This record gives sequence, C-alpha cells and structure tokens, in this order.
Amino acid sequence: MSTLAQRYTEVQDRITAACAEANRSREGVSLIVVTKFHPVDLVAQLYELGHRDFGENKDQEAGPKALALEALLGETGRQDPANWHFVGQLQSNKVKSVLRYAHSVHSLDRPSLLAALAKETAKIAQMGEQAGLPAPAALEVFIELNLTEDPDRGGIRADDLLGFAEDVLKVPGIRLAGVMGVASLDQQPERDFAAIQAASIKLQGLAPQASFISAGMSGDFEVALRFGATHLRIGTAITGERQYTA
Ligand SMILES: *Cc1c(COP(=O)(O)O)cnc(C)c1O
Repeated sequence: MSTLAQRYTEVQDRITAACAEANRSREGVSLIVVTKFHPVDLVAQLYELGHRDFGENKDQEAGPKALALEALLGETGRQDPANWHFVGQLQSNKVKSVLRYAHSVHSLDRPSLLAALAKETAKIAQMGEQAGLPAPAALEVFIELNLTEDPDRGGIRADDLLGFAEDVLKVPGIRLAGVMGVASLDQQPERDFAAIQAASIKLQGLAPQASFISAGMSGDFEVALRFGATHLRIGTAITGERQYTA
C-alpha cells in the first residue's frame, strides 16, 4: 500500500506529465486536494508536504476541520494559512459559516445562493469598515455549470451563463474566477469537458479575467487538462478511499 506522500507525489508527477503532453505550463494549473471524510491529521500531513489548497463539500465537516488545522498550525507557529475551497452544494443558510474560512466557492449554482453571498459579503465589509479595517479580499467564486439536459439539476445552463455572470459581476465582495463542472460518470468525460471549455470561452467574452476552469477529479483529471482545466479537485487518488461510515 502506498503512503499519502507517495500518492501525492505520483499525482503531482501525473499532472506535470499531462501538462507537458497538452503543451501547457504546469504553473497554470492548481491542485486542490479534496479531504472530505478524512481527518484533520491527513490535511496536516499534506500541509507539511508543502500543500496549501484543500477542498471540502460540507460546511458541518469543513468548518471544524479548518479550525482544527488553524489550531494545529498555531501550536507550531506556522504563519502560512491553508486555502479552503468549498466545492459542494451550498445551502444559503450555511453561507455565513462558510465565509469564515473559505478562500473560494466552486459551486455557485443558482441565483438564490448568489443573493446570499452578496448579502453576507456586504455585511462583512460593512462590519470591517466600522471597525476601521482594510477591505477584505473578495471571495473567489466559480459558476457551476449544469451539463445535463435536465433543467432541474443543479448548476447554471449554458444558455443562462452570461445573464447570470452579469449579476455575479455586480457583486462587490465577489471575484468571478471562471466556471466549474463535474463530468458525468456514465459516459466518456470528453463531451462534458468540451462543454465546460466552450462555456469558459463564452464567459471570457464577457469577463476576460474569469478564465479559470475548475474541472477534473481522480478518475478524469488528465482528460480535463486536455480541455483547459486550471483547477483540479482531486480526492481519492491522493487521500485513499473515503470512509463513509463515521
Ligand atoms: C469529492 C469531490 C471531488 C474529488 O473526487 P475524487 O473522485 O475523490 O477525486 C471533486 N469535486 C467535488 C465537487 C467533490 O465533491
């Protein structure tokens, strides 16, 4: 059985090789290690290996884990904080909590969530202003795409992308980074990754700076890299299998 450090190095090497093959610069690709269902010790081990970007998909798990990591790092006098990426479905009533630790939200999938993010980021900015603090860094967000034919599925459909993006761009506390998608497991991922890339090109016509693509997981990240992915969200290939029973 390979260790965490070995798996981490192997995945990094695979990313480097896939970038070379796709004629892309390795520096243009970020690896987010998705640590859901794994204890903070695993996050701390990856931090010790030099990793800083971690992903979680549930606030009730991510919040305590982010705090626990901060406490661990504090004990050892580490200054360089981790970046937490929220990648799962986000309920509006969890936004306030998520904003306490999240560096970015990859799953902006509906107007009501945008409204909740706008409201909470405005509140934080106002509180800071009253306290005489410098303006907080804008929250990095990705618009999650609905890649299916089913309009009831989560995510923004390609036809609605530009209209929704215009609303996102109006929110001062948010910085639109790009698009996010999860390729279907039932078919070859190429079709979905091509659709994500096409959506990204369309979005950049409106917002040239929103050029990031959050796509690619353990089973398909090399394909995602061929279709322009800039932010890979990789769990099991690095962490090992998740324990679904608590
Ligand atoms: C769990 C998860 C991942 C990582 O999945 P793996 O297959 O373990 O790499 C990526 N993205 C999202 C949104 C997830 O929930």
